[in-house]
Amino acid sequence: YLMNKIKVAILGIVHQKGIDFLRQKDFEVFEVKNFEPEYLKEKLEFVDGILLRTSKLDKNILKNCSKLKIISRHGVGYDNVDADYLNQKKIALGITSKSNAVSVAEHVMTFFMYLTKNLSTSDKLVRDGNFKKKSELPDFFELYEKKVLIFGFGRIGKEVAKRCHGFGMKVYVYDPFLDNSVIEEHNCIPTGKKEGLSLADYITIHLPLNEETRNFISKTEFNVMKKNSIVINTSRGGIINEIDLYQALNEKMIKSAGIDVFESEPPDPNHPFFKLDNILLTPHNAALTLECRMRMSQEAAENIYFYLKEKNKLNYENLVNKNYL
Ligand code: NAD
Repeated sequence: YLMNKIKVAILGIVHQKGIDFLRQKDFEVFEVKNFEPEYLKEKLEFVDGILLRTSKLDKNILKNCSKLKIISRHGVGYDNVDADYLNQKKIALGITSKSNAVSVAEHVMTFFMYLTKNLSTSDKLVRDGNFKKKSELPDFFELYEKKVLIFGFGRIGKEVAKRCHGFGMKVYVYDPFLDNSVIEEHNCIPTGKKEGLSLADYITIHLPLNEETRNFISKTEFNVMKKNSIVINTSRGGIINEIDLYQALNEKMIKSAGIDVFESEPPDPNHPFFKLDNILLTPHNAALTLECRMRMSQEAAENIYFYLKEKNKLNYENLVNKNYL
């Protein structure tokens, strides 16, 4: 009897909601927490679906998955999967397009505000008995009327723009894949890459990682930024060149940075970022609020269930490679 159940592997830790949903639909669900390629090859050989967090699934592993019909990403980026291979084999690739833009946008605003008011310094004043030195804080500013540049005006970029408008910021957008009219409809100002970098007080990146966007922000870009600029990356490590960012921060070419994503995760214990005091780091958790984890787990599970059982209910926006299937 078990042999006939649809088998789904959950790769990584996800909220119980999606797991329960699939079990209620009588799927056989098991969790995998070891991501060694040889182990995965064996474990995934007969699965119909994979619900995938951030571990890497390359061709070497995928070619062993003889029954695989869908990989459903818990999230929206899919640079950890060999998408070309999936296209070629007509295996579906799903994302959770409805779930995480708000959580990431709130993370960006948190970085903006924390770094702008330099809150750790205030907290320290109170604890150290220096309450009365409050008027002497040099790094204490406002977002109001500042210029923000958004790279990539997709789901997350648009949510960030809304929140920046709420703070009275002037919002510039660079996204050559969109018509300027789309950017203007959202009360934002379309700009060129270099032009935007040279006028922005805040820079935030919302691009997918691919061959075109690797090292999108490197030395050349830091050279044109303003000295007071604050740079945020919640997209993917590798889009900002880490050595060049370290140098820009160390030499005070820019003011500070907020980084959620790293070229290699977790970062090396001796990573040069750890030596800096003008960078704020988070462990790739921009989308890991409880609300967002519940939504992502459910949406990723639904993608698998609908794709295999009720195609009429599937949100086709979530199917990255629908044109190949
Ligand atoms: P999206 O696909 O909705 O938007 C991406 C936008 O970037 C699109 O509008 C596209 O036109 C634009 N773009 C693509 N290439 C470009 C280029 N070379 N130059 C300028 N613009 C370009 O994606 P999204 O949902 O907004 O997410 C963006 C990225 O954020 C994801 O790919 C993912 O890697 C990352 N992300 C990270 C977290 C996190 O936890 N830190 C969570 C969610 C998403």
